[in-house]
Amino acid sequence: MTIDATNVNPAVAPTVPGNSDASRDVASYLHPYTNHATHEQTGPHIITGGDGIYVTDDSGHKLIEGMAGLWCTSLGFSEKRLVDAATKQLNILPYYHTFASKSTNPAIDLAEKLLEIAPVPMSKVFFANSGSEATDSAVKMVWYYHNAIGQPEKKKIISRKKGYHGVTVAAASMTGLPGNHKLFDLPIDRILHTETPHYWRDALPGEEEEDFATRLAEQLEDLIQAEGPETVGAFIAEPIMGAGGVIVPPRTYFEKIQEVLKRYDILFIADEVICGFGRTGRMFASETFRLKPDMITVAKQLSSAYLPISALFINEAIYQAVKKGSDEVGTFGHGFTYSGHPVAAAVALETLKIYEDDGIIEHVRSVMSPFQKRLKDLNKFDHVGETRGHGLIGAFELVSDKCAKTPFDPYGAAGKAVAAKCLEHGVILRALGDTVAFCPPLIITEDQIHTMFDAVEAALTEWHSSL
Ligand code: PLP
Repeated sequence: MTIDATNVNPAVAPTVPGNSDASRDVASYLHPYTNHATHEQTGPHIITGGDGIYVTDDSGHKLIEGMAGLWCTSLGFSEKRLVDAATKQLNILPYYHTFASKSTNPAIDLAEKLLEIAPVPMSKVFFANSGSEATDSAVKMVWYYHNAIGQPEKKKIISRKKGYHGVTVAAASMTGLPGNHKLFDLPIDRILHTETPHYWRDALPGEEEEDFATRLAEQLEDLIQAEGPETVGAFIAEPIMGAGGVIVPPRTYFEKIQEVLKRYDILFIADEVICGFGRTGRMFASETFRLKPDMITVAKQLSSAYLPISALFINEAIYQAVKKGSDEVGTFGHGFTYSGHPVAAAVALETLKIYEDDGIIEHVRSVMSPFQKRLKDLNKFDHVGETRGHGLIGAFELVSDKCAKTPFDPYGAAGKAVAAKCLEHGVILRALGDTVAFCPPLIITEDQIHTMFDAVEAALTEWHSSL
């Protein structure tokens, strides 16, 4: 059935012409993370198929997905083993829940496997469906834990400006980006933000990288002192900040931050939703950056995004608190209809098997050097102020004056223009303000890395000559 878009709501009649898929989209679909005024003019970019690292759009363009969708399709868009794993489980048991001690074999197998590969000893795994649900669950766990151990004051959670932890109420509060707070009445109270560890942008003149890290750890300590250490329950951080602009921690940063957390008995939550499962050349970025978290959140590459699933790892102390609390109350009053969904769990389990069988992490280690080298080469462009990255994640930041690091005015327009140029040249990247991010599927080959960067260089050359 086709819908006449103009009949749906004349007040918001789209300017996208005709009775096309595009006009039906504009008439009916409220897109996440979209400027809806612009969307009415431009309509959607409709993706119709996928093959390896490529997707195809409804105009027949074959595009390199340089962002693995939203930092997630690690195995590309046509991994048949994942399709087969889903189909098999759909035929065996398409759904069952895990409330009130019910369980399913895929959920058990996946939890066990995750504990086996965890970067630090963990006690249990809780399942949810999205990264936001995992980080939101971590917030509730912080509060539950401190109540259960008799420290009900210790509830504040510190995240970082430009950190990204999702969009549900507590998760969006921890996210340190203005667009996630404005008009939403966020952040909620008890959520605080400390400074962004962006050495290139925020270091003082002449400040060494390690001194910058020391200063950030001192700022964190000052914040804890000002709030009262007895009121601060946890600190959450992405090992590499993703949506905030792909910000790689400066040398010694996490070492110093963790010392502060230890001093004040503050839980550490590592949000590995982007970095987990090979992105940094190790299974977890906690290994790459020597993190010792009490809780870890994962999603995205856990199932190569073929089905929605996320997980929260908790350590033994937190589990003991949950055990005690749930016994007192009569239940652990938290969980989702789809927690441990058997089909999603079966797909996640198969994803982890493919990582092992196909040596995906070894593959990442073999292609991350050419990837990072080609990324660094983009510094040759006049308006590329910084390139940064680690493993198979990276970004370049556009500036109007390279020496002074002056941002373009208006901020964000240059990023958008360059991402659009890259698209014209056959590569999907993501503009985060004036930072353009790469996070390709982990299966990308060295040849494909060169093809991708050749196209990005052509796009940047064209854009520079248009200025
Ligand atoms: N945490 C991090 C580090 C993320 O990058 C994201 C999403 O990009 C989330 C949490 C939220 O995940 P979701 O969009 O699945 O809710």
